[in-house]
Amino acid sequence: MPSSSLPPRGARRALIVGSGISGLAAALSLHRAGWQPLIIERAPGRRTNGYFVRFNGAGYTAAERLGILDSLPDRRDPEGRMFEVDSRGRLTPGLAFPEQVNGTPMRMLLRSDLERVLYEAVQDLVEIRYGTGPAAITQDRDHVTMTLTDGSVESADLLIGADGVHSTVRSLVFGPEDLYRKDFDHVVAACAMDEPLPGMREGDALVATAPGRSAWINSYRDHPPVAFLLYRTPWPAAEIRKQPASALRQAFADFGGDIVPAMLDAMDGSESVLFDQVSQIHLNRWSQGRVVLLGDSAWCMTLHSGQGSGMGIAGAELLARLLTEGGSLSAALGTWEQKLRPLVTRHQKEALRMRHFFMPANQLGYLARRGFIRATNTPVGSKLTKVLMSAHPRTLA
Ligand SMILES: Cc1cc2nc3c(=O)[nH]c(=O)nc-3n(C[C@H](O)[C@H](O)[C@H](O)COP(=O)(O)OP(=O)(O)OC[C@H]3O[C@@H](n4cnc5c(N)ncnc54)[C@H](O)[C@@H]3O)c2cc1C
Repeated sequence: MPSSSLPPRGARRALIVGSGISGLAAALSLHRAGWQPLIIERAPGRRTNGYFVRFNGAGYTAAERLGILDSLPDRRDPEGRMFEVDSRGRLTPGLAFPEQVNGTPMRMLLRSDLERVLYEAVQDLVEIRYGTGPAAITQDRDHVTMTLTDGSVESADLLIGADGVHSTVRSLVFGPEDLYRKDFDHVVAACAMDEPLPGMREGDALVATAPGRSAWINSYRDHPPVAFLLYRTPWPAAEIRKQPASALRQAFADFGGDIVPAMLDAMDGSESVLFDQVSQIHLNRWSQGRVVLLGDSAWCMTLHSGQGSGMGIAGAELLARLLTEGGSLSAALGTWEQKLRPLVTRHQKEALRMRHFFMPANQLGYLARRGFIRATNTPVGSKLTKVLMSAHPRTLA
């Protein structure tokens, strides 16, 4: 860390567990607010992989406040086309991504774009210690102390658990994951492809659906396509213990045509496969004393909300703003939760509805989804969709 960027003497210290989008956003926001953050990351190095992210609403406004918005690319190709694909491989026009959602413009980017921009903003300001994580956490009136898995001990004024949906901080301080995790009957797999699929033009997006299955692939300017697949299973926890490639092949075995088989081949060869069950996290309180949870560890909303990254950044930026207002830590954490919770709850509820759009649960859902997409491709339907998508600004004051 260069000496010019050292925090002021006596700066309050924050331990941040996790260097995902929420952890990096917390480090940036707190450093700007005069704190001295230290990030602890379990992975041996930066996680530069990613899937596609729609970025709008509260996260967009927070990124603007943090001054990083201009560095975030918009990878949408204006010439790009969207297609629906049925299980026999036949293509029909799909639902175009709107320009404006939740009261702000929408950017299409990659998780790795957000990670990179946040990392570049903090790399000279904040120490990141890789390859370790929390083993024990204790706190008293004045400090929180974390013993790390490498045996070192760190104390601070505040500890932020930004360590994702399977958070260790949450388990250590709030209790076992089972108390807070609500599982959907969905499994998700995601990866970046090495090269475009045959017949796909740069900027094209395809969605292949069948009852209980969907496979999404988006291609971008200056980046190979990224894909994610969803399928329904009554036992998601057992399913994710399987080997991803064979589980996916079994789930999508009846998809014909070129597209889904080519996606499965590409996923076989890709190293960065995310394979997990889809779950939300619900806690009555996001803080206990000097420990606060942020992002997916606190409120995972699932990919169906399209707001996880954005709310991680929005939550971090708001927290730092409230911590500079001069009141006590507990008052700041209380106000933070009061302001943030209504929006998080709304996005979590929306995710429950949107899961039917991302993957039709059954034949009826499949037909309803197709009917809806056909309707949105009429002139009236497309206007109505735009109005509905841009209504209800969802940002934080
Ligand atoms: C397929 C897919 C599509 C998505 N699409 C969108 C979208 O369109 N829009 C959107 O806004 N969001 C989207 N999301 C959600 C979004 O990506 C997440 O909500 C967001 O990345 C969560 O960030 P996080 O930093 O809170 O957690 P994570 O990204 O999970 O980061 C947690 C970090 O903590 C580290 N860690 C974990 N345990 C420990 C430990 N014990 N010690 C130290 N470090 C630890 C991990 O290695 C990781 O670096 C999508 C998600 C998926 C899977």
